[in-house]
Amino acid sequence: MQITKTAALALFGLTLATSNTHADGLPKIAVLATGGTIAGSAPGPTDPGYMSGQVSVDFLLAAVPELKDIATATGEQISNVGSQNMSDEIWLTLAARIDELAASDYAGIVITHGTDTMEETAYFLSLVAHTDKPIVLTGAMRPSTAISADGPVNIYNAVAVAVDPRSKGLGVMVVLNDEIHDAHSVFKSHETEVSTFNSGDHGLIGTVEYGDITYF
Ligand code: ASP
Repeated sequence: MQITKTAALALFGLTLATSNTHADGLPKIAVLATGGTIAGSAPGPTDPGYMSGQVSVDFLLAAVPELKDIATATGEQISNVGSQNMSDEIWLTLAARIDELAASDYAGIVITHGTDTMEETAYFLSLVAHTDKPIVLTGAMRPSTAISADGPVNIYNAVAVAVDPRSKGLGVMVVLNDEIHDAHSVFKSHETEVSTFNSGDHGLIGTVEYGDITYF
């Protein structure tokens, strides 16, 4: 039997509509916040000194109202620490929650995290998470109160990567500064620059600009 292109697209649309989507038709994404500079605050918008892990996941999501156009994002506060204080206990909580969410109707999971140990958490999750749904870590080099804070666009891009069907099966990724890195290659290379993440000889797996993804 020959299936017409229209019928195939209708079938595909039906599949999309019945799996991992919210009633409004947008994919469901869980944003698990752990702390870091992305949740940091400083006394003023140009103050270089700040405290990590000060604002809540609700505050982070409220700074990205554009998310409502690409996903139904729900936030959960797993911890609120500077990632130099990431612990085995938080790792295990995070991994267990990811397993639960991945087994439910969420299309993907985004984790906000401090940059100092993001590569370690990404690598850990790549070893223990049993899902082909995208798991995307993001963070920021500037605190949430800074002039031109990079957190909101990084969250937007991370969610865009998490909802993209091409991201399925790519494992754990790190998205910052318009770049998509694989968990096995990525490392932090600079103390303060927003372009701090690097994947060395392996290179990026893609780029994402205002949600527009190019996979290499
Ligand atoms: N010390 C901070 C942390 O890792 C640095 C950052 O998030 O960029 O939480």
